[in-house]
Amino acid sequence: MNVGTASAERGGKGTGCVKTLLQDGRVVRAPVGIVEGKDEGPVLYVQAGQHGMEINGVVAVVKTLQRLKPELLRGTFVGVPVANPLALVQRRPHYGLGPEEPYGSRPHLNMNRIWPGNPNGSEAERLAHNLWEEAVQKADYVIDLHSYERWSASCTIVGAKKESLELAKAFGLRFISAGDGGKEKRLVEEPWKMVTEAAEERGATALAAELAGQWDIYPKSVQEGVRGIENVMKKLGMLEGEQAPPTNHVYLGKDPCTRVSMERDGLLMALVEPGDEVEKDQRIASVLDPLALEEAALNSPVRGIVYHLGPSGPDRDVQLPRMHPFIDKGSEVAVIYAR
Ligand SMILES: [Zn+2]
Repeated sequence: MNVGTASAERGGKGTGCVKTLLQDGRVVRAPVGIVEGKDEGPVLYVQAGQHGMEINGVVAVVKTLQRLKPELLRGTFVGVPVANPLALVQRRPHYGLGPEEPYGSRPHLNMNRIWPGNPNGSEAERLAHNLWEEAVQKADYVIDLHSYERWSASCTIVGAKKESLELAKAFGLRFISAGDGGKEKRLVEEPWKMVTEAAEERGATALAAELAGQWDIYPKSVQEGVRGIENVMKKLGMLEGEQAPPTNHVYLGKDPCTRVSMERDGLLMALVEPGDEVEKDQRIASVLDPLALEEAALNSPVRGIVYHLGPSGPDRDVQLPRMHPFIDKGSEVAVIYAR
């Protein structure tokens, strides 16, 4: 397998990069690692770091590349831990985004909206084009790692393709967001594509995983990423062994859930984490009103699994005030799925 300057013979490993020439003459290097199994099999492409503040997946891909042994692998693993080095170095979701500018304000800057890229386009379009040509289009299976903000549990996201849903189940996160076929309508209104959508159109099977927590490295989320990649490889027969752990999946937006609002303003002090199982009437948070010098208990109204616990509102991932644990009276503070 050859990807950019990286190459690996059967039964070996290789590293290198995919180079991208920008309009202003700068060259960007996206790192690549290849593990070529001793036996032939499927090609799995895993990337992270399209968005510069979503770094759990970056660590997960590097750790996977370190762990994989060619002699125990069937097929080919291609890992790109930082798909968008410009955004990582700029420490912003998209290269060129201003301070606290809403995430969706300029879709053409968002690398995960412009696949399969354009060799003469913006920085993100050029990066995507070269990764597409060198790596993504050679893959049978595609995993794209992202991170939602820290108030929600990790989840996998897939479109309507049945094989992709099976891949998401194998990845093994509890929460799955599965498409309902509304994509065609959306593409008419907003004609942009994620890497998973472009890969599926090409015939590949693809999923995205949101490994909870942005702007920092969350060890639990990194572990979920590494385990998810290995689970998928076990399902595809690329690695020996059982997928772990078996999971009762919860489908976001489809399975029944209870949304909890706060009756008062205050600072949220969580007592459980997103992903935790809770009992009816279990205290899941305290809300401290520092002005009234009062503390109120937030109890779960149902037995269930916490998906979200914390402030809610748009642009939580890029706007600092939105990341603050102060809850406005009447706003949604928790989402708990039934179990
Ligand atoms: Zn992302």
